Amino acid sequence: MNGGLKLPYSDEFKLPDVVSCIGGCKEAYYCGNECAEADWEAYHSLLCTGERSSALSTKALSKFVQHANETNDIFLLAAKVISFVILRYRKFKEARLGEINDDHKKIRSSYNNPLIMKAWEPVAMGHKSRWWECISLPDDVDDKCSYRMQVKELAFESLQLLKKAIYDEECEPLFSLEIYGHIIGMFEQNNLDLVVQSPLGDYILYIDDLPQNDKKVAEKLTRPILDALGDDYSICCQGTAFFPLQSCMNHSCRPNAKEFNREQDRDGEATIIALEHIKKGEEITISYIDEELPFEERQLLLEDYGFVCKCPKCSEEA
Ligand SMILES: [Zn+2]
Ligand SMILES: [Zn+2]
Ligand SMILES: [Zn+2]
Repeated sequence: MNGGLKLPYSDEFKLPDVVSCIGGCKEAYYCGNECAEADWEAYHSLLCTGERSSALSTKALSKFVQHANETNDIFLLAAKVISFVILRYRKFKEARLGEINDDHKKIRSSYNNPLIMKAWEPVAMGHKSRWWECISLPDDVDDKCSYRMQVKELAFESLQLLKKAIYDEECEPLFSLEIYGHIIGMFEQNNLDLVVQSPLGDYILYIDDLPQNDKKVAEKLTRPILDALGDDYSICCQGTAFFPLQSCMNHSCRPNAKEFNREQDRDGEATIIALEHIKKGEEITISYIDEELPFEERQLLLEDYGFVCKCPKCSEEA
């Protein structure tokens, strides 16, 4: 619309100004400076393709991103985790060097592994099985083994591209296929779909509720747009999220808690609601599947998570 058309009453629905990445990549956008800086510090400075990037090669980085976009964007999430750990490691190391500046030998012999482990700590809890072992198999796959091999090869391909872009010798363990497989597996098993409602829906309702005369005037402009969009006007923005604490919760077919219905979620926070009184020290469980399904169907669905459910309900029904 070339910026020439201003929708009636759109001032009532002000969107925040968008801030672009401070590294100059023109690929990452934020709701404000605070978010832009936090992302830069924690993840993006190593994964930015702009001029301020601290990647080894922004060209190689672009190749890695392109490969992920063409094959599986779960690799982008994995790269974020690796970048997060490397950046944390570098910060710890810097702090450590400052502390014992006058005794270099001591640093050499002691800093290396403990600091990587410390940097790795926040993601360690989600680390359970390799991607190619826990990936859900599409229904039309006959040879499960060769499918899993293909998935493993794809991860290897992606990892080679990532290595060319951000490899750090001191953080070598992070670049093994074993670790990469576990990081991707963590997202494969624990990610939750997030839904954020289209802001256009609220606007259309607002116009609809206007007094008759105002509505008539406003609809002269909004009606053609709405007609052109058809049902698409209410399409939600979909995303995916990883909540480390929630991902630690075990499954039960008779859970004592449940996830807040994501369809109603607007702020991207994870909320767990108790279904009954939970005693202090009692394990909190949620259901990974529809727990109302018959026993056999539940067990089949839970196969993707790599365990046989032995919860009270399954024990009774087995
Ligand atoms: Zn933000
Ligand atoms: Zn950037
Ligand atoms: Zn069960």
